[in-house]
Amino acid sequence: MLANYHTHTVRCNHAIGTEREYIEEAIKNGFKILGFSDHTPQPYPEDFYSRIRMKMSEVEDYTSTLVKLREEYKNDIQILIGYEVEYTHEYFDKLIEYLRQYPLDYIIQGQHFAPNEIDGFYSGSETTDEAKVKEYVDLTIEGMQTGLFSYLAHPDLMNYVGPDKVYQHHMKRIVQASIDLDIPLEINMQGFFLNRNYPSDRFFSIASAMGARFVIGCDAHHPEDVMQPWQMDGLMEFLERNNIEFGDNVIELRPVK
Ligand SMILES: [Zn+2]
Ligand SMILES: [Zn+2]
Repeated sequence: MLANYHTHTVRCNHAIGTEREYIEEAIKNGFKILGFSDHTPQPYPEDFYSRIRMKMSEVEDYTSTLVKLREEYKNDIQILIGYEVEYTHEYFDKLIEYLRQYPLDYIIQGQHFAPNEIDGFYSGSETTDEAKVKEYVDLTIEGMQTGLFSYLAHPDLMNYVGPDKVYQHHMKRIVQASIDLDIPLEINMQGFFLNRNYPSDRFFSIASAMGARFVIGCDAHHPEDVMQPWQMDGLMEFLERNNIEFGDNVIELRPVK
């Protein structure tokens, strides 16, 4: 794998290590492209503080730090500047307008909440409520349809534990949208490593049978997370049994500007 587009920084308050450490680790492990996609800030009301993302005022330092490192390391690795962004009705347009003022190579979509962090539910919490999986899928597809996202991170974050028939009915709509819109679906290494509900066989067996395109994302929250799939116990077996082949893992990025 030559590229990883899913890397965080300390700014999100739940990752550690300097940008430089992530870059050094990526070079050590054979990567030629390292995309930083820290959790995007959100233009929330003043009285709401999110503990899982940088503040709007930190965008300046995030991007200028990466611009400097991009130049410094240009002979060893290509550094890309991006964000992992939630699509919301409430804040998305305002957010994109803001991010566009700074260096920006790409965004990936990570739908952690529906309809948003303030009023919504966490997609990764177990639920048997069909209304929630429907809401997650509807919102995710709407986000995909903006045409701004280069890929969909952990598409199977939604932790619906009700009847499989219901799960399949809704989640297949995400797979179909990814095929129609040609948006790769991410196999999330961090989720695999931490034994979370994603990436799951139930989702990826369907997605590969339907003919979706995939990308592997380290979702690094620690420099050592920037690793190759074969360096992670069990991941190659997961990919194999779900018929997921990977090559250099390089994808075409969609311009956000
Ligand atoms: Zn995170
Ligand atoms: Zn992430």
